[in-house]
Amino acid sequence: MTEPDSEVRPGLRLSFAGVYEALLEAFGPQHWWPADTPFEVAVGAVLTQNTAWTNVERAIANLKDADCLTPGALLEVPHERLAGLIRPAGYFNVKAGRLRALCEFLVRECPDGDIRHLAPRPTPAVRSDLLRVKGVGEETADSILLYALDHPVFVVDAYTVRIFERLGLLEPGLSYGDVQERFHAALPSERALFNEYHALVVALGKDYCKPRPRCGTCPLRGDCPASGTPD
Ligand code: SF4
Repeated sequence: MTEPDSEVRPGLRLSFAGVYEALLEAFGPQHWWPADTPFEVAVGAVLTQNTAWTNVERAIANLKDADCLTPGALLEVPHERLAGLIRPAGYFNVKAGRLRALCEFLVRECPDGDIRHLAPRPTPAVRSDLLRVKGVGEETADSILLYALDHPVFVVDAYTVRIFERLGLLEPGLSYGDVQERFHAALPSERALFNEYHALVVALGKDYCKPRPRCGTCPLRGDCPASGTPD
């Protein structure tokens, strides 16, 4: 668990920028995304759908052991074997199909299937192409854009919505695009900032702002209007 380095932080300006500063001060840099290659980032972005990262790590370790962490090599693996390798990540049959679809897209679009060839293209074009890949939704596409291709897009996830609704910075019922637009409008369009911010949000959501929040030790509790409120 990420431990904050001190207690309550009084006087936090309750804003998207202020929350970022407070979380960075409390938790420090998170060094995301934990992967050796951009393709491994993309694989992780698919595998992490509806599961905890610890499960993804086990699935990726299996893929590394099987020496199939390239699009070409992964496409050579029969479906049943691939599903078995990624079993720790859950929904393994569905995710095996999604990984295959992603690899087919990369082999079709990129020389040598190398995902890095997508990086120089405009963000909206790459995003729209990724969203056409079966099983790639907005969060997965944006994770790939930000963490594999270094595009400045804010990744929205369930933690983001829960935390910022509780903080009163987002009203309930906003779409993914609405939430993302709020962050884009409030923050400078910087890849490093978006990289760190999403990782810090995950740290807070995973360990503190859970469905039943642990407000008593949360670094934002001095300014959060929902502090101490049961879920
Ligand atoms: S104080 Fe409680 S509700 Fe507010 S952000 Fe922290 S954990 Fe979530």
